[in-house]
Amino acid sequence: MSILKVSRMGHPVLRKKVRPVPPAEITAAPIQRLIDDMTQTMLEYNGVGLAAPQVHEELRVFVAQIFRDHDDEEEGETRKPEILALINPEIKPVGRHIVEDWEGCLSIPDVRGLVPRHRDISVKAFDRTGRPIEMQASGFMARVIQHETDHLDGVLFLDRMKSLDSLSFIEEYARYHAKREHEE
Ligand SMILES: [Zn+2]
Repeated sequence: MSILKVSRMGHPVLRKKVRPVPPAEITAAPIQRLIDDMTQTMLEYNGVGLAAPQVHEELRVFVAQIFRDHDDEEEGETRKPEILALINPEIKPVGRHIVEDWEGCLSIPDVRGLVPRHRDISVKAFDRTGRPIEMQASGFMARVIQHETDHLDGVLFLDRMKSLDSLSFIEEYARYHAKREHEE
């Protein structure tokens, strides 16, 4: 596996609507390698999500870390987040609840802002085995999936902010606003 170079805001690849992966190609080596490399890259840079355009690949693929509460967790064992890889995701809002929370982005380093998102969504996609899946997501997980799917349409979290008043550098965010730490 390799750690890939992350594209930063201003690179045109972050502003493109990128193309779907033909389902028959999902299980082929290039896409499987891309998913592995994106996962390693996300973990290396402490991101909770990473979309293919962020590693200069114009394909509708993203990876994300999913944190679940486990009742069966053994004492002393570090909980490992699950890695979710979605291909060709399609999102639909469920209900009308909109929530604002802080987001960051590996392509916009050291900046945070408050972004409104649908609280509940349903997602159709393919998983990395090429199987079509449907899932529901809420709260933080729904936020991550919306942020990453936006990347596949050339949309950055700054575009979604209602106001730039909350836009903060990481140090000021930590000092004045911090609740939790994550980049996507
Ligand atoms: Zn991002």
